[in-house]
Amino acid sequence: MAAVARIRDVDFPENRVPIEPTQAGGVLTIDLHAIRSNYRRLVVAAAGAEVAGVVKADGYGLGAVPVARALWVEGCRTFFVAQFSEALELKSALPPTALILVLNGIPSGSETACIAAGILPVLNSLQQVKSWGAAAAGQDRLLPAALQVDSGMSRLGLSDSEVEVLMNEPDRLRGIDLVLVMSHLACADEPEHPANAAQRDRFVRLSEALPQTRRSLANSAGIFLGSAYHFDLVRPGIALYGAHPTGAGRNPMQPVVKLEARIIQIREIPSEAGIGYGFSQVATGPMRLATVGIGYADGWHRCLGGRRSAVWYGDQRLPIVGRISMDSIIVDASGAGAGDLKPDDLVELIGPHQTLEAIATAAGTISYEILTSLGRRFERRYVD
Ligand SMILES: *Cc1c(COP(=O)(O)O)cnc(C)c1O
Repeated sequence: MAAVARIRDVDFPENRVPIEPTQAGGVLTIDLHAIRSNYRRLVVAAAGAEVAGVVKADGYGLGAVPVARALWVEGCRTFFVAQFSEALELKSALPPTALILVLNGIPSGSETACIAAGILPVLNSLQQVKSWGAAAAGQDRLLPAALQVDSGMSRLGLSDSEVEVLMNEPDRLRGIDLVLVMSHLACADEPEHPANAAQRDRFVRLSEALPQTRRSLANSAGIFLGSAYHFDLVRPGIALYGAHPTGAGRNPMQPVVKLEARIIQIREIPSEAGIGYGFSQVATGPMRLATVGIGYADGWHRCLGGRRSAVWYGDQRLPIVGRISMDSIIVDASGAGAGDLKPDDLVELIGPHQTLEAIATAAGTISYEILTSLGRRFERRYVD
């Protein structure tokens, strides 16, 4: 397929990081082919609605530029980031027709820079509407923007009464080319939660009070709530990156991330030797330990120590023992299957044996936080 050939031609600066492969404590492999199939899967699920790509927080930690370029190849034309600086970085990496929207809105005073860069703000308050309208008047032209309304999450967007102000004083929107009215679901990953239908109804009511334009409500999980939640455009993030969008049943998305780390040292310890900081674990018999070059500074959360997570060597599970250090962890390699483990070998931390979701659950968090915490020290390999 021509599309595949095109993405292979892209020269990713991320593949040229000045880290010698043998120096990095770990290897983070990001499968752009899987991201592209996840996008296509969401296009089918969204059944006719446009599928945008949410690449905020540096593409959920995986690299906004390579991710967005891969999505572009699949036909994605609308991209959401959280901050203006993220939008600027992305803008220069994508063809000029890419539509880039800033979810958090832009800081006041950045309007001119935003217009110059061709980036669209999401207007979240009457003040932002006013500033954008003033910028339009100053330039004597229509300026495109999205408008967010608060359908119940109490996080961003215009309240009911503020929407009413706009309805009664439509001049406040003069100069603004409203390309999208959007809102965000708080409980989309709980399909039975009554807030979903309530937010949807409130979104419909609020958007009907505003100038008619395209509408958007659903994130990844929202897409799987069904067509009543799709409107004109959907905004998946986490599902593109391979995490389970709803948590129910088999994960329909393809895994994107593989995380491996390198064995630094192997040692035999006698019974009663303390293991790691604070001796939180003490050997109850002779043990063979392996020290691995990844720590909490790389996003391997400190709460994952004390046998609460593991690394994998082939099909052999090696539990993490003792506390997680900043730059290393200690694993129990006493099992027979780990007999030939040696320094410089790579062990799996996220991959076929240990999913992103399993690690998130073990750490008492969500896959979003695991991904966005992944550190900057890994050798990053983009494959397609
Ligand atoms: C982060 C975000 C998304 C994407 O959410 P996922 O759950 O990752 O799909 C969509 N819309 C808004 C407003 C967001 O903040």
